[in-house]
Amino acid sequence: MSKPTADTAPNAAKGAPAVPVNFLRPIVQADLDSGKHSSIVTRFPPEPNGYLHIGHAKSICVNFGLAQEFGGACHLRFDDTNPAKEDQEYIDAIQEDVKWLGFQWTGPVRYASEYFDQLHDWAVDLIKSGNAYVCDLTPEQAREYRGSLTEPGRNSPFRERGVEENLDLFARMKAGEFKDGERVLRARIDMASPNMNLRDPILYRIRHAHHHQTGDKWCIYPNYDFTHGQSDAIEGITHSICTLEFESHRPLYEWFLDKLPVPATPRQYEFSRLNLNYTITSKRKLKQLVDEQHVEGWDDPRMSTLSGFRRRGYTPASIRNFCEMIGTNRSDGVVDMSMLEFSIRDDLDRNAPRAMCVLRPLKVVISNYPEGQVEQLELPRHPKEDMGVRVLPFARELYIDRDDFMEEPPKGYKRLEPAGEVRLRGSYVIRADEAIKDADGNIVELRCSYDPDTLGKNPEGRKVKGVIHWVPADGSVECEVRLYDRLFKAANPEKTADGGTFLDNINPDSLQVLRGCRAEPSLGNAQPEDRFQFEREGYFCADLKDSRPGQPVFNRTVSLRDSWGS
Ligand code: ATP
Ligand code: MG
Repeated sequence: MSKPTADTAPNAAKGAPAVPVNFLRPIVQADLDSGKHSSIVTRFPPEPNGYLHIGHAKSICVNFGLAQEFGGACHLRFDDTNPAKEDQEYIDAIQEDVKWLGFQWTGPVRYASEYFDQLHDWAVDLIKSGNAYVCDLTPEQAREYRGSLTEPGRNSPFRERGVEENLDLFARMKAGEFKDGERVLRARIDMASPNMNLRDPILYRIRHAHHHQTGDKWCIYPNYDFTHGQSDAIEGITHSICTLEFESHRPLYEWFLDKLPVPATPRQYEFSRLNLNYTITSKRKLKQLVDEQHVEGWDDPRMSTLSGFRRRGYTPASIRNFCEMIGTNRSDGVVDMSMLEFSIRDDLDRNAPRAMCVLRPLKVVISNYPEGQVEQLELPRHPKEDMGVRVLPFARELYIDRDDFMEEPPKGYKRLEPAGEVRLRGSYVIRADEAIKDADGNIVELRCSYDPDTLGKNPEGRKVKGVIHWVPADGSVECEVRLYDRLFKAANPEKTADGGTFLDNINPDSLQVLRGCRAEPSLGNAQPEDRFQFEREGYFCADLKDSRPGQPVFNRTVSLRDSWGS
């Protein structure tokens, strides 16, 4: 298997492993070397308005990864300034996902809402220093006054309000005297700035909403820009790492730090978002998939959420390795899904025990095998790693996959055909003698004979090329198998015909449920989240929610090979 191209540094020494580029490493190293910081503090700041997706994994790996690598700290801070869209369910799920990915935040879970008192006091400071004012423009008027990328904005008629009046109005906003949207607090910066974010941005909005952390204490809420940098400063964050869309917010981030008596001066760095083809990475759209029941929930194994990948069978290590492999840079691009699939195959190839499971069982009777006889065959759990053995009872009746027998096979078919021979994996060579059919002509059973002299050795005088998987009829476990495929059939799900939406690109064949599959006996003990390579079929994981003792449900994590052919 060759490794797909990633964003890698040129190799000085030929044959040396490629080193993925992370432009933040040298920055941190330089800050430590120069003594600017004696140790670093980063943070991962999700808004609890949905479950984490694969894009967030990138951010988690960058933030926690740098802290780990340089012996620093990384905080988990919920950026909870928009109570209407936030929920405790998301707060719990996000913590679970971060831990699952293998990281532990430093200190307690933090909430930007813990700083609401301080932020409010700082807003008052800005009013007093003439740097903020209460504005009564309606949202429509405000939009019009704001100008555009090509035209400067105009000053709000409320911009010259006196400090006393501003303090009074802001206090009354806080006291709940006004309705949602009636007034806002704005910074007084520059309506002609080419950077729209500096055109007197909003600091506080009126929102009569219950907050999951602060209850009904507040009816005014600071917005993201007024919250983020100051929260970073309060927590002593040294490197505030975010995605590139915040680059144009950095002057504002620095403006607040400059104008306010903050205890520290964090610095913001931006890197490019992770975009993965065939997937959606927007919480809003993922929520729509859930709400409109296109999937079964946030953790549906087809979702690009971390809980979806987890249920699908992805390992935390495969996701961390993927995030490392793609590098951390400032250039926008789309990463190929096959890189993530490479990463999980690479992990499971080494770490998943092998097993056999027949997805579409066809009964086989070995006519010349003595009735009542059973041989306990031992097969290694892994071809290379020492994982011990599993036992398969070989007897007169067994199952093979329907697709492994054809009456009129195409040329080069290496499986079972009339009068042809094939080896049963880890067992004997059998020959197909007769196909038994029902009234409609469907094959319901195969009569075969075995060559007793072929256990662990080649038959005399002839070559048998094919090897197929099988399970014993007696002792195998009936199970359900869910074959998952990509949720979107288009590389860019957002690209649609006029008037369409990303929903039009949903792959109608993203899930196929097979019931009555037969797994080898050892799989009866599979615990939720146990992972296997089902020989010849792919990598599978016992479902986290629906697997029961003795009644496993297996999810296909990924096929053995890239079948999308890119
Ligand atoms: P979404 O659009 O899905 O809601 P978001 O950026 O609004 O994403 P946040 O909860 O605010 O979600 O994100 C927390 C952190 O994760 C932020 O620092 C954000 O920059 C980062 N992040 C979000 N999406 C990606 C992505 N695709 N790649 C890298 N980092 C991301
Ligand atoms: Mg956000």
